[in-house]
Amino acid sequence: MNIIKGEKVTKSFSGLVALKNVDFELNKGEILGLIGPNGSGKTTLINVITGFYKPTSGKISYKNHDISGLSPHKISRLGIARTFQIVKPFMELTVLENVATAALFGRNIHIPKSQTRENAKSAIEAVGLYDKSSYKPGSLSIAELKKLEIAKAIALSPELLFLDESMAGLNLKETQTTMDLILKVREQRDLSIFFVEHVMKVVMGISDRIMVLHHGEKIADGKPNDIVNDENVIKAYLGKRYKRQKNA
Ligand code: ADP
Ligand code: MG
Repeated sequence: MNIIKGEKVTKSFSGLVALKNVDFELNKGEILGLIGPNGSGKTTLINVITGFYKPTSGKISYKNHDISGLSPHKISRLGIARTFQIVKPFMELTVLENVATAALFGRNIHIPKSQTRENAKSAIEAVGLYDKSSYKPGSLSIAELKKLEIAKAIALSPELLFLDESMAGLNLKETQTTMDLILKVREQRDLSIFFVEHVMKVVMGISDRIMVLHHGEKIADGKPNDIVNDENVIKAYLGKRYKRQKNA
């Protein structure tokens, strides 16, 4: 059963077509990896699905309800959360306060404030930042800031989570830890995950399925092993890059 589905999703920015007739589907519990060259429309797709941009045309359905063009606020209430490629925490708030603030916008609109704080704490614990709950973002490493971003998203108690380049700037060990973290939260929180990532080791390591964008169009969608052997994908994106990473 699909949890989210897009039909012919198109987004233009004054003449520039960033997404062209993109069909996609994510099944419940699935981890879908989205790859493609810089500028191929990956972040735009997340922005369109999560309401930050309205699609120019096409339809997006979440649990069979049309959510195309709803505001980010409404979409987040429905149980869809996301992280941002460029992290922007509130610098004057602590880790706990940042996550608790995010948790206010979650699915359970009627929960008491104290519960919001509990959700925030449990999200911080899940990403392994509990010891730094009272730190301000300025004293966190890049890896910790990325984890804070994931904690903010999962504090919303979502059913569907979008991650935009959560591993960018991380070293190998941090990448491995974050991969384990994503698998763990999927399991513990019964999540479906749609993530954008450049590091092929990660994409191959955790995706149930991979979708590829090129110039705003979907050029492939399938099992990881089929995708890395797909001629079009190799030509448009992987090239020698994956071979190099694989041997590294
Ligand atoms: P990716 O995440 O795959 O690197 P993006 O989705 O960020 O790519 O961008 C896809 C294309 O859309 C790029 O050409 C980018 O310049 C353009 N684009 C994205 N957001 C905007 C915007 N707000 N206004 C104008 N052009 C945009
Ligand atoms: Mg991007």
